Amino acid sequence: SSNRKEEIKNEAKERNVRFLRLMFTDIDGVIKNVEVPISQLDKVMDNEMAFDGSSIDGFVEIDQSDMKLHPDLDTWLIFPWELDSSDGRIARFICDVYMPAGEPFEGDPRSNLKRVLNEMEHMGFTEFNLGPEPEFFLFKLDENGNPSKNLNDHGGYFDLAPTDLAENCRRDIVLELEALGFEIEASHHEAAPGQHEIDWKYADAVEACDNIQTFKLIVKTVARKHGLHATFMPKPIEEISGSGMHFNMSLFKDGKNAFFDESNEDGLSRTAYQFIAGLLDHAQAYTAVCNPIINSYKRLTPGFEAPVYVAWSGTNRTPLIRVPASRGQSTRVELRSVDPTANPYLALAVLLKAGMKGIAEAKSAPSPVNKNIYNMSQFERDENQIQSLPKTLAEALEALKKDETIKDAIGQHIFERFVAAKEADWRKYSTAVSQYEMDRYFKLY
Ligand code: GLN
Ligand code: MG
Ligand code: MG
Ligand code: MG
Repeated sequence: SSNRKEEIKNEAKERNVRFLRLMFTDIDGVIKNVEVPISQLDKVMDNEMAFDGSSIDGFVEIDQSDMKLHPDLDTWLIFPWELDSSDGRIARFICDVYMPAGEPFEGDPRSNLKRVLNEMEHMGFTEFNLGPEPEFFLFKLDENGNPSKNLNDHGGYFDLAPTDLAENCRRDIVLELEALGFEIEASHHEAAPGQHEIDWKYADAVEACDNIQTFKLIVKTVARKHGLHATFMPKPIEEISGSGMHFNMSLFKDGKNAFFDESNEDGLSRTAYQFIAGLLDHAQAYTAVCNPIINSYKRLTPGFEAPVYVAWSGTNRTPLIRVPASRGQSTRVELRSVDPTANPYLALAVLLKAGMKGIAEAKSAPSPVNKNIYNMSQFERDENQIQSLPKTLAEALEALKKDETIKDAIGQHIFERFVAAKEADWRKYSTAVSQYEMDRYFKLY
């Protein structure tokens, strides 16, 4: 509204905003920026800012490159740090990408999520909430300011100083996030040395994804100020835990949690069971989107609290899906496979679609598996019909190509670009001769 525009203009003037960053996320989940001087604010808010879409991987061909950015005024935010050269500041908008003729660009992950949310509204739900639990590692920078492979500390789960040297850094990250309006609920050292987790309050789908993107940017920026390199790579070190980003999800109908049913002994509604059934049914295919890089699959191995098997449970942390104990408005389904390299907009689109499919077809969920699945024999798993998640990106891509529901959740444009880029990466990886092979075979044969 024009009121909101006036407010934004006043705030920009009062706080000496000099530059405006227009942010959007590409298919790989990477934040892209177009930076303009604040003099362009009116033009930006009138959706008049054009950019060359052909220079973004996976977007469009050169002949239709003149795309437009539509800022979401609700995402207006002034970054807390000041410019080096003056006392001015930088502000940002998160934008949707539009075609020159004025329709949303189908290759824009944020617009794509809105399309799937629209389907959800047609099913009678009003909100899809997400509370993410991103984990990351802090490595030291070397004397030239380049990331080294030296971890910053040797702490463990919930450890405090003196082992947790990164505590100050993590605390600064939390302070910056709070200054930006994040409601931080937990911030702790994770199981592995140098590994951390920060959790904040859940939000409705699009906002929750915007928050994840902002979060990653802040973590990296603050870490650098502390002489550290923050990485969201899922498995940077072989022998220790990797980094996940558990997704806590719930569907709401007119302000009420649709996964909660008081009259049911376990407090879960039929909708919750159907949603879980959908998540189990489509797990093979959406793994490609939720675990989108080659390294993702080195995390999904037994023994590190990362899921390997397609099953669900109440308490057990080895299956793909867990239903945490809280009920009422915080009743939720936790998907434990997602890692922080996932494009959050795409991941949420495929998961919502899988869950909705379970609801639409009134699927019933299998019984929960309350044993440690890592310790089951293959025979026992077969007997319980427990499948494994894909073991490689290549396997996951094959499953994605066969699943029309999940393909539909990302749309044809994104599907084609995504698969082509991932297959190219896989081809390079699988023909490269690794250090492991040299060490293992070079002298032996
Ligand atoms: N780091 C584990 C993973 O890879 C999760 C550990 C936890 O939060 N319990 O998913
Ligand atoms: Mg956690
Ligand atoms: Mg954790
Ligand atoms: Mg969790």
